[in-house]
Amino acid sequence: MHLPLAALTALLIATAATAQPPERFDIAITVDDLPAHGPLPAGMTRADIALAHVAAFKAHGVPEAFGFVNANRLEQEPDSAAALAVWRQAGHPLGNHAYSHLGLSNAPSLQAWQADVTAGEAAVAARMGDADWHWFRYPFLDGGSDAARRDGASTWLTGRGYRIADVSFSFEDWAYTDAYARCLAQHGEAAIAAMKTQYLREVDAEILRMQAASRQVLGRVVPQVLLTHAGAWSSATLPAVLARLDAAGARYVTLAQAQADAAYANPGGGTVIERAARRQGIALPAKPARRIDPATVCR
Ligand SMILES: [Zn+2]
Repeated sequence: MHLPLAALTALLIATAATAQPPERFDIAITVDDLPAHGPLPAGMTRADIALAHVAAFKAHGVPEAFGFVNANRLEQEPDSAAALAVWRQAGHPLGNHAYSHLGLSNAPSLQAWQADVTAGEAAVAARMGDADWHWFRYPFLDGGSDAARRDGASTWLTGRGYRIADVSFSFEDWAYTDAYARCLAQHGEAAIAAMKTQYLREVDAEILRMQAASRQVLGRVVPQVLLTHAGAWSSATLPAVLARLDAAGARYVTLAQAQADAAYANPGGGTVIERAARRQGIALPAKPARRIDPATVCR
């Protein structure tokens, strides 16, 4: 069918006028692996990466971005302490992500894992003063593969005063971190541009996928908890990511506000949406395969 241009224009204007605004949804932003996620590109500091994060949060009205710390990175990269100072100066809180990012299932024992959690506490507590830092984010979102370890860890965390920082979705920003550093070192601007195009398409698709999955397994778009990482790729793409969330109807809230929702009554490993799907025997659609595999880019 060929419409005359004037008719087509009128149709487009009418469609735009009647388009519904997006359904608003609450979302808390959380940032893992502070102060140092992935390789540090040349000419950049960890503080630069943190500054880019807090600037993007301010520009998009994000009231709180909970940062989760692996304190061993402060010993590996002493300069990275400046990133935590930037975070706190901007008013964002810090929580514990275990000293060395030890996964619960792969730890030699529950006791060894608990020791890694407690070893991470001092660096966080020192920077949080009187504010509540007793929030724990499971490394690898690994809440334990067998019941004994799962229940043992969760009971122990609760007894130690922690709340588990749950997650509802992520854009897998971490998958691009290493490739971004390699491409910057090689001046691979075209490769970086292609990865950004793909990643932002994935962000758009993942927002829709999250909304559909949340409606399917929880009956509504529950308050979301987004997981991102404190790396160079994430800081470079965060403004565009937040712009997409804004356009999709995001209303930024704190982690405590999001987790006050009944959907987060039993936080654990993986995501709240995945756990609800598993309980109901619902198979969520898999994420589509990537056309560009970041693991092969700029080799
Ligand atoms: Zn992590």
